[in-house]
Amino acid sequence: MNMLRCPICQTSLTLNDKRCFCATGHEFPVTGQVPNIMLRNSQTADHYSFQWGKELDFYKAIRESQGDILKATASSKLGWKDYLPTLLRNSGSVLDVACGYGGIADIVKEAGFEGVYLGFDINDTLADIKKERFAHLNNFQFVRADMTDDIYAEAFDLVVCRSAIMYAPRPMETFAAIARAVRPGGHFVISAYTRKSPMRELCDDYFRGIISRMGEREAFEAVKEFTLFGKILSELNVRVQIPQDLPVLQIRKGEYDIQRLMYYHFLKCFWNEDWGFHNSSIVNFDWYHPEYSWRFTREEVAEWYEACGFDVVEYRVVPAQHFFSGRKRA
Ligand SMILES: [Zn+2]
Repeated sequence: MNMLRCPICQTSLTLNDKRCFCATGHEFPVTGQVPNIMLRNSQTADHYSFQWGKELDFYKAIRESQGDILKATASSKLGWKDYLPTLLRNSGSVLDVACGYGGIADIVKEAGFEGVYLGFDINDTLADIKKERFAHLNNFQFVRADMTDDIYAEAFDLVVCRSAIMYAPRPMETFAAIARAVRPGGHFVISAYTRKSPMRELCDDYFRGIISRMGEREAFEAVKEFTLFGKILSELNVRVQIPQDLPVLQIRKGEYDIQRLMYYHFLKCFWNEDWGFHNSSIVNFDWYHPEYSWRFTREEVAEWYEACGFDVVEYRVVPAQHFFSGRKRA
């Protein structure tokens, strides 16, 4: 099965856990059963290698809580775990674009999927992920690759890109490139950040502009202020009544906890007591440090699907993220 194309010459790529080479002879290194076809490093790659690597070790916290820690995340609330198994039953092959720490791979594994799973990401921890959780599964292949490279071949029944498209410098172009990997009749499922209210958007861009220029360690120290501020607000335990819609400020009428009111409308300052200070800081680091982190309206993403020849068959939304599933027209 020709799953990916060579990022240099776009001919077919042969890859397994021992060797990786293209039809014209470009050979790529394989470390710990994971081929590496990245052509260059990037700020985003360094960020995610640090975030998923041993130093912060967010995955350790997930593992130790047996997944409980993820229940508060947008990804969990969007219901990936409920949605994917139905599609997997009708799919022989899955491409997991920007597979991160392997959250989608876990769902695919738990569903007892027997087809081909290929997950790739820019972070350098995939060899550990493969070894620790998927070593015994011959149908699970991981590759280190950059989703913005020209590597896609029309080969997959199901393509997933969870919470990643916003990190591309030009997300619409990257979306269109990834969409090429879907077979006619196949599905392309993504989640992506929603656009927030105007003051929150301004603050996001301002602080990202500063923090994304810092190295990983310095940035992680810096975002601890956001965690602390969120913790202080949360511990006030104050409810705020907004008696009417405020359309210019884009705040809906209702009762808010003061930390949530600040969080959704003014400043991302994640704090979750169950997660603790370190893990809450990872969430703030994940928000402010990557160089690109676009936010989208529902209509923008729907237009990408339409332009690439897909019918949107499922849409879900939670305050922070959209979820789209599109079926490629035959
Ligand atoms: Zn080549």
